[in-house]
Amino acid sequence: MGDVLDRARELAADVLAPAADEVDATATIPEGHFRALADAGFYGLAVVDDVPFDDFLGAVETLAGACLTTTFTWMQHHGVARALASTDRADLRERHLAAAVRGETRCGVAFAGAIPQPPKLLATRVDGGWRLDGVAPLVTGWGIVDLLQISARDAATVDAGDEEAQVVALLVPAHAATGVTVHPLDLAAANGSRTVRLDVDGWMVPDDAVVSLRSRAAFLAGQHVSARVNGCLALGVVGRCAALVSDAGEPAAAAALTEALDAARKDLDAGLADATAMPAARAAASALAVRAAASLTVAVGSRAIVGRHPARRLAREAAFTLVAAGRPEIRAKLLGLLPG
Ligand SMILES: Cc1cc2nc3c(=O)[nH]c(=O)nc-3n(C[C@H](O)[C@H](O)[C@H](O)COP(=O)(O)OP(=O)(O)OC[C@H]3O[C@@H](n4cnc5c(N)ncnc54)[C@H](O)[C@@H]3O)c2cc1C
Repeated sequence: MGDVLDRARELAADVLAPAADEVDATATIPEGHFRALADAGFYGLAVVDDVPFDDFLGAVETLAGACLTTTFTWMQHHGVARALASTDRADLRERHLAAAVRGETRCGVAFAGAIPQPPKLLATRVDGGWRLDGVAPLVTGWGIVDLLQISARDAATVDAGDEEAQVVALLVPAHAATGVTVHPLDLAAANGSRTVRLDVDGWMVPDDAVVSLRSRAAFLAGQHVSARVNGCLALGVVGRCAALVSDAGEPAAAAALTEALDAARKDLDAGLADATAMPAARAAASALAVRAAASLTVAVGSRAIVGRHPARRLAREAAFTLVAAGRPEIRAKLLGLLPG
């Protein structure tokens, strides 16, 4: 079947890239994209032993450059697959992990309501489980994924410091439930990702759905690794822009973008070893994506504005990487960097 990067390049060139503008225009990801990712073994990429992390990152970047919408939606799966692989809940692992690795069970994640201070989504301990109330503001893949790992802040420790404040993660079926109202959101880019807001009022979730209970500090500590993975979205956009700038007959500009891309990737890799460097590296990658998309707009001229040239989509996708999977430190770095 070839190595992971070869498979990613093949899938990107044969399946994702040719359909990217259609996916963007129709806000619909063909089911065949998810089947192709599953057939390539890509739903298990973050948990199988024989895939080096560098290859995982390379695959995500390659796929993101081909179709950001599909890649962003598929990426949500990996946090849940990893949680299932590492949970001390053997019954959950046995029930779901193998199917998740094969891509027969697709997963999404909803933690954006649990992390802010004060949190937007609370979990109150009740007999036999948890009662959820509040808002999960951004949940990608609704109607596409089968299982959702939803995180909420333990109401009993909501005012405690980060070491004591608890985040409970629960694995629930990703469909309508009593106490949940689903609001589809209209996105400027990756609108086919089916991102929704869940308004939650008394959603009862039993104890046997608990994947983990950990501190807010432990959750935040894991963010620099996810910032590296999410940086692949920005790098993918840059790579695609560089290729199209070259196609537009501007080899010098394309070479400059490729050089900047390599440097941005190196800085993100360095951020894995030094968590304090990650926000700047992550911000720089998105700022480069914006510059790359602007360079492409200039290189192709009015075709970027009139008609359906991919430059139009890539400009919105570059902006998407500025905020999707954002966090306060990255935002602060970007606001320092972008105004010039
Ligand atoms: C299109 C799209 C799809 C998304 N899909 C998902 C999804 O499927 N699942 C999911 O969980 N999230 C999802 N997110 C949310 C994402 O993970 C970030 O939380 C979000 O992009 C941050 O948005 P914001 O910059 O508007 O901050 P806001 O949401 O406005 O942040 C509100 C407050 O929370 C704090 N805060 C927010 N995030 C963090 C953090 N990570 N660490 C520390 N503090 C924080 C901020 O400092 C601020 O005080 C999605 C976002 C977008 C744009």
